[in-house]
Amino acid sequence: MRRIGPIMIIEGANNSKVPFSRSLYINSKDKVLIDTGADPAELRELDDQYGVELVVNTHYHPDHTLHNHLFRNAEKWINPLEFETIQSIEGIAKENGVYQEWGPEGVEALRKHFPKKWVQNLGEISGTYRYEEEYNFSGVKVNFLHSPGHTKGYTSPYFPELGVVYVGDFDMTSFGPWYFGTDGDIDEFIESSKVLLEMDASTYITGHQKGVFKKQEFIEAMGKFLSIIDQRDETIDKYVRQGMNFEELTNIGIFYPKKMLDVLILKTWERSGIRKHLQRLGYSVQGSEIQLVNK
Ligand SMILES: [Zn+2]
Repeated sequence: MRRIGPIMIIEGANNSKVPFSRSLYINSKDKVLIDTGADPAELRELDDQYGVELVVNTHYHPDHTLHNHLFRNAEKWINPLEFETIQSIEGIAKENGVYQEWGPEGVEALRKHFPKKWVQNLGEISGTYRYEEEYNFSGVKVNFLHSPGHTKGYTSPYFPELGVVYVGDFDMTSFGPWYFGTDGDIDEFIESSKVLLEMDASTYITGHQKGVFKKQEFIEAMGKFLSIIDQRDETIDKYVRQGMNFEELTNIGIFYPKKMLDVLILKTWERSGIRKHLQRLGYSVQGSEIQLVNK
């Protein structure tokens, strides 16, 4: 297990690749765990050895709330913008584009396949933290930075005295930035990335795959990571210019491999994500028709 001062980094299976993620444990008298996507055996061991009194979730996605249920007696907090969202499957479906793409029928279809564990994990969350306020966990100071873009309430925990930021889903993977829910926003994602780069920090910890970056490495990785947004723009624009309509565009597999697009939620994100790029490129979508809007 890697440690940075009082922060212990707990890995998820498969190098913390989705559907797992990396957790941080603040080894202070207050016993705080940030996100629960790490290996369950290691999390249990941590609980036995040190205890977990407070679980903090950066956002509501299942890979970051995966093992909330292991900590029965811990208090659990999420960001203030997503507390309402997690109260119902409808709320989560809406924020993920299911209602936008398929209407109420889609929400019903999703409900049938909705993972029970996720409902349980979210159901145990009883409170919220405040953004941009300094918390002091027995001497370890943490500031929960509002970093929207991935989701609207997304939070990057920042440890000012340690110069560490847990950037979670600003994950620098070759997949590229994820903002495909209706609660995601490309411009906000880019804006939040800039804020993170400008933090007074020397170490950035991501939630998935390669985990710990020194500042310079992180700056370089972020350049590549964000350039994937432009590549997506170019690809989509090229297809539109070739005369593709919206339905055709959403069947080729721009973000997800084509063969995975029969999974309802992935198809939903593919469609919702393409809409965001089209809007950014100055197109409007009416039914299946794509038209250039005069700017
Ligand atoms: Zn996420």
